[in-house]
Amino acid sequence: MMDNKMNRRGFFAAVAQIVGVAAIAPAALNAVFSSEASAQEKRRGSAPAAGGAAMPMVDPNDAVAKAVKYVEDYKKSPDSKGVNHCATCGFYTKKETKNGKEVGTCTIFAGKMVYSNAFCNSWNKKA
Ligand code: SF4
Repeated sequence: MMDNKMNRRGFFAAVAQIVGVAAIAPAALNAVFSSEASAQEKRRGSAPAAGGAAMPMVDPNDAVAKAVKYVEDYKKSPDSKGVNHCATCGFYTKKETKNGKEVGTCTIFAGKMVYSNAFCNSWNKKA
C-alpha cells in the first residue's frame, strides 16, 4: 500500500515535469531566436532603425532564415514554384532600393530587410 502511494506520487511528479517542459519549450525557443537576432545586430554594429535606411539585410545563414529556408533569389528555391517571392507576399512592405535591387521589410524578420526577389517557406499570398 505504501509502495502504491509512493508510485502514484512519483508518477504525478514525472507528469508535472513533462508538462512543465512542454510549457517552457516554446518560450525557450523564442528566447533563442531573439538572442540570436540580438547577437547578430551587435556583430554588425547596427541598431534597428524605424525608417529602414540603416536596417541590415537578412543573412540567409541566420538561424531563423535557415528555419524558413530563406533564399535571396526566389528562382533558386524549388519551393517558390518559380513565381512566389517576397514582393507578392503578404508579410512584405516595399521600402527602398539597395544596390539596384528593391528591398523591404518582412513581418517575420523584425529589424531587417529582405530582397523583393527573395523567398522563404512562410510565403503567404498578398491579399
Ligand atoms: S515571409 Fe514573405 S516577405 Fe518574408 S521572407 Fe518569406 S516570402 Fe519574403
